[in-house]
Amino acid sequence: MAHFQHFIDGTFTHGTSGRTFPKYRPSDGALIGHVHEGGRAEIDLAVQAARAAQKGPWARLTVDDRSDLMRAVADGIVRRFDDFVAAEMADTGQPRSMMEHAFIPRGAANFRIFADVVKNVATESFQTPTPDGRGALNYAIRKPKGVIGVICPWNAPLLLMTWKVAPALACGNSVIVKPSEETPGTATLLGEVMNDAGVPAGVYNVVHGFGPDSAGGYLTQHPGVDAITFTGETRTGTAIMQAAAHGLRDVSFELGGKNSAIVFADADLDVTLEALGRSVFLNCGQVCLGTERVLVERPLFEALVAGLKEKAEALRPGATLGPLISAEHREKVLSYYEKAVAEGASVVTGGGVPTMPEELSGGHWVQPTIWTGLADEASVWNEEIFGPCCHIRPFDSEEEAIAVANATDYGLSTAIFTRDLSRAHRVAAEVDVGITWVNSWFLRDLRTPFGGTGHSGIGREGGVHSLEFYTELRNICVKL
Ligand code: NAD
Repeated sequence: MAHFQHFIDGTFTHGTSGRTFPKYRPSDGALIGHVHEGGRAEIDLAVQAARAAQKGPWARLTVDDRSDLMRAVADGIVRRFDDFVAAEMADTGQPRSMMEHAFIPRGAANFRIFADVVKNVATESFQTPTPDGRGALNYAIRKPKGVIGVICPWNAPLLLMTWKVAPALACGNSVIVKPSEETPGTATLLGEVMNDAGVPAGVYNVVHGFGPDSAGGYLTQHPGVDAITFTGETRTGTAIMQAAAHGLRDVSFELGGKNSAIVFADADLDVTLEALGRSVFLNCGQVCLGTERVLVERPLFEALVAGLKEKAEALRPGATLGPLISAEHREKVLSYYEKAVAEGASVVTGGGVPTMPEELSGGHWVQPTIWTGLADEASVWNEEIFGPCCHIRPFDSEEEAIAVANATDYGLSTAIFTRDLSRAHRVAAEVDVGITWVNSWFLRDLRTPFGGTGHSGIGREGGVHSLEFYTELRNICVKL
C-alpha cells in the first residue's frame, strides 16, 4: 500500500498533522494508498525551506547552471519513465498509451523547453537622449519573483504541474506544489527526481491535502508566498484570488471552459472527425481544452453526427477510454446526462453507464455520449461538464456560428474546420478565446501563449509569457 508523503526541504516527511486520507484507483475503485494531509504547520515549513533555498544556493547558480539542472530533471523523468506512467495510471485510470505518448513525455518536455527559453529570451534596451547630449541607456533585467505557490488539478497531473514548475524553477524561483487530492503520485515521485538531479533542497516542495482549511487554503493565504499559479475550476480561482489579494500577490489562472468547435460545410470530414474524436473524448472528456459544443453548418450536420457517433461507439471503456476521476465526478457527469434528456435532447449515443467486466465494476465509468436537439438555454449547452460528451447544433451562417460560440462567459479554446482559409482567419479573430486551432486540435507548441479569456483564466503562460509571470522585470537607467 502506497504512502504519499510531503516533500519538504529535499526530504520526504509525514508532517505533523497526523491526518491521512485514502486514495482510490478510478478504474476499479480499489484503495491504492494513503495520502498525508498537510495543514498550516507543513505549509509553514515548506515556505521557510523554499525561502531559504531561493535566497541561498539556488540564487547563486548561473542561468546556465539552472538550465542544465532543468535538463537533468527532464532526463530523470525519462529514466524513471515506467514509474511515472504507472503512478499516473494508478491515479487517473487513463490508458497506458496516452500516458506513454503524451502526458509523461510532455512532463519531461516542459523542463527542456524552459531550460532553453530562460537562456534565449532577450530583455529590452533603450537609448534615451538627454539635454547634455550624452544620453542614457535603459536596460531591463529579470529577477525571480521568489516563492511560488502552485495549485494543480487532477486531469493531467504531471503535465499541468510541470507546465508551471519548470518555468518557475528555470527563472530561479522556488515552489510549493499542492497537487490535487485525487492525484498525489507523480508530484511526489518528482521529488525523488529533483534530489537525484541535484536540485538544491527546498527549491521544489510538495504538500498534499485539500483546498479550504487544508494545504491549498493555507498555501494561498500564506504571506510568505509571493505569487500563485493555479489551474482548476473557475470558482476555485475566485477563492484563490481573494486569498491572493492579501499582500497583493500576483496570480496566473488557467480555469474552466465550455469550448466550441465550428465546422463549416466545406470542411474535410475525415480531418474534422479525427480531431473531434479526440477533443470530445480524450482523457474521458476531462481536458480543459476539450470540445463540449459542436457547431456544424447545416449541410454537413447529418454526416458529422453519424461520423462522431461512429467514433464514440468505437471507443472501448477499459481499453481505449478511461474512467472519470472519482465517484463524485461521475455523479456530476451523470447528472448532466439526465438533465440533457430532461431538457429535451435526443441521445445520439451513450447517455448512461457501460457494462464493465467484474474486475472493473467498481470504477467510475460512463458511456461516451452525444446529444442533438437542445435549446441554447439548456444547462448542458452552457455549463462545463468535464465528461466524454458533446451536444451538436446546426448553424446557417458564419455570423450565427460566431455569435453562438461567443455566448458564454468562458473563453478558453475553439477549433475551426474549413477549407476556406480566409474564413478560418476571419472567424478565428472573432471568437473570444485564448487559443484557436484551425483544422486541428491540441497541436501544442510550448513557446506559444496559453491561457483563456473571461472566466477561463487570467494571464498567459508558455514560452516568454511564462517568464513574464515568473520573473519581475526591472529597468536600470544609466546616465552616460
Ligand atoms: P478544482 O478547482 O476543484 O481543484 C484544483 C486544485 O485546487 C486542487 O488541488 C484543489 O485541492 C485546490 N483547491 C480547491 N479549493 C481551493 C481553495 N479554496 N484554495 C486553494 N486551493 C484549492 O479543479 P479540479 O476539479 O481539480 O480540475 C478540473 C477543472 O480544472 C476544470 O474546471 C477544468 O476546466 C480546469 N482545468 C483548466 C485548465 C486550463 O489550462 N485552463 C487545465 C486543466 C484543468
